[in-house]
Amino acid sequence: MLKKELKVQTALDLLYVFPYKYIDRSRFYRIREIEDTETYVQIIGELRDWHIIGAGRGQRLSAEFTDGDDSIELVWFKGIQYLKLQRGVKYIAFGKPSYYNHQYNIVHPELELLSKVNPETRKGLEPHYNTSGEMKAGWLNSKAMRKIIAALMPDLKQGIPDTLPLALREQYHLTDLTNSLLNIHFPKDQAALRKARERLKFEELFYIQLQILRQVKRREQQAGGFLMPRVGTAFNDFYFHHLPFPLTNAQKRVVKEIQADLKSGRQMNRLLQGDVGSGKTLVALLVALLAKDNGFQTCIMAPTEILANQHMETISHMLEGTGVRIALLTGSTTKKQREPLHEALMAGQIDILIGTHALIEDTVQFGNLGLVIVDEQHRFGVAQRAKLWTKNINPPHVLVMTATPIPRTLAMTVYGDLSVSVIDELPPGRKPIQTLHYTQLRRDSINRFLREQIQQGRQIYVVYPLIEENKKSDLVDLENGYRYMQEHFPDCRVSMVHGKMKAKEKDEHMQRFARGETQILVATTVIEVGVNVPNASVMVVENAERFGLSQLHQLRGRVGRGAEQSYCILLTRTELSKDTRKRMDIMVATNDGFRIAEADLQLRGPGDLEGTQQSGLPFELKIASLSTDGQLLELARHAASDILDEDPELQMSKNSLLVNQLHRLKQHAVDWSTIS
Ligand code: ADP
Ligand code: MG
Repeated sequence: MLKKELKVQTALDLLYVFPYKYIDRSRFYRIREIEDTETYVQIIGELRDWHIIGAGRGQRLSAEFTDGDDSIELVWFKGIQYLKLQRGVKYIAFGKPSYYNHQYNIVHPELELLSKVNPETRKGLEPHYNTSGEMKAGWLNSKAMRKIIAALMPDLKQGIPDTLPLALREQYHLTDLTNSLLNIHFPKDQAALRKARERLKFEELFYIQLQILRQVKRREQQAGGFLMPRVGTAFNDFYFHHLPFPLTNAQKRVVKEIQADLKSGRQMNRLLQGDVGSGKTLVALLVALLAKDNGFQTCIMAPTEILANQHMETISHMLEGTGVRIALLTGSTTKKQREPLHEALMAGQIDILIGTHALIEDTVQFGNLGLVIVDEQHRFGVAQRAKLWTKNINPPHVLVMTATPIPRTLAMTVYGDLSVSVIDELPPGRKPIQTLHYTQLRRDSINRFLREQIQQGRQIYVVYPLIEENKKSDLVDLENGYRYMQEHFPDCRVSMVHGKMKAKEKDEHMQRFARGETQILVATTVIEVGVNVPNASVMVVENAERFGLSQLHQLRGRVGRGAEQSYCILLTRTELSKDTRKRMDIMVATNDGFRIAEADLQLRGPGDLEGTQQSGLPFELKIASLSTDGQLLELARHAASDILDEDPELQMSKNSLLVNQLHRLKQHAVDWSTIS
């Protein structure tokens, strides 16, 4: 069972099944000291009276337990027949209080005779282990795990070989492995536990960083990148004569960072993060002009046809009068149009090709492709996409642009071998979007507000969740919503788009909304990515509780693109879980994409962030957390980077321990996600 459920095969593996919490068994409570339902308590007292209440499934045993001053109810729903309760003897009752009928009680407490309890076992912190349902069914609960692991402690005390070199432990003040493992399971005290956790977390993060940085070094050595050192007429002419507005400082900085890559002689693999509306397109264009100045072509890939068209429009507008040659290639490009286009590309007569991913990746040949820019690919899967290009003999530079800010810790791990640039500043003059959270009950006043906005000439998005595009009931919701809007806004024209529509039909509806011919767009999240309709000033999100934070932030980013004050209205039902309430509160409180990404990471955990599985990491994390151990991660990265600077291939004998451990970890990569 251990083997199957925890993938544990050896005693050493078992020592790496860490407790998820500890309970202080040295403290005894008085009943009147109980003040919450979070803290486990143990109480010394006597049973005064008990009886069985109800029958059948609802049957329970209720006992009155007193510490002499006060009393509390103990309740059992199961195993009643096995209870042998005695009067007039002292017990230790242990458990987590709950609050029921305006008073505390303890459901299924652990009840031990005081006379039978060994005081030694009531010292210090007691470890508790996560166990699966299967394990519990086989009596392998946390208590049993504790016993098994306790039995390993005497052997462990003899000492086991360390997995971190002594020099490293000394430099970072880390305790040795033996003591760390002893104290992670049966901590001497809080301080010892802290040291143990720190060491074990550091180790985990350190080996991940060592693995990632080693890959980075290898890539740097292998892949020679195109040299693009020149800043020539294309860039300068545009910069000095055609720039529609001065660059923000963040845009300037990012362009410089990219420029440094282009003249490094190594292939660029860079992630450009910038919140919605931060002006990534302009950066992309400037970089493409640098490529042109060095004799290279650029392709800019967008995830949807709508977006590709939009890019074509804005970029060709900005390039008017510059002589830079651009072209568009999408699913709607006819075969007849494609042939000359392909030829022009081969002949180097096109400087910038804009299109959707699919087309460009497959068939198109370039005369001299030097730079690939991937836009709005805010699914994390993009890391793989960027790597695709590294397989070519002469890989172009790759710039991936995303509007979903990735917390630094995640960028350093999942994205560890991509460089990251950040546009952390919006162009001046934007009015922050006002976000409001309402329950469905407020629909009438919301409709009144929407009517006002429409009368002022604005347009409105209404978005419904559609997690899997084939979910029938979701589609019904959407269609009902469409009809509802038609009924309640009889003077308005309403469009509807969803993923089940044909691309062409979808595009028509989108375009009509974009041209202002319809006032209301009822849609699923197909509009989430990148659509730009500056006149739209309200985003209504229906069933907002069903969206994740970063998705809500993306949706909100569809408004606030013009000069008008914009609004995002989050509609939920009245009863909300704690997490949902938190999500709504964060959305209302901030427009800052980075704060939202951090909160998302903390609420959901990194394994859950859109598309990132923990498998994005070279090894699983058992104890360190990407959401809370950022500082330790920086230290670990530092340590790994120092070692690799001195010994890039880890060939020195003092580093053989590291090589062995990396090897062991790779073979051992445990799928921890299977544990419930
Ligand atoms: P995103 O980063 O979301 O792709 P865009 O590139 O679409 O953002 O830019 C959003 C809007 O901001 C566009 O209308 C663009 O013209 C404008 N913009 C970009 N850079 C600047 C700037 N430096 N000053 C003023 N407006 C800018
Ligand atoms: Mg964009």
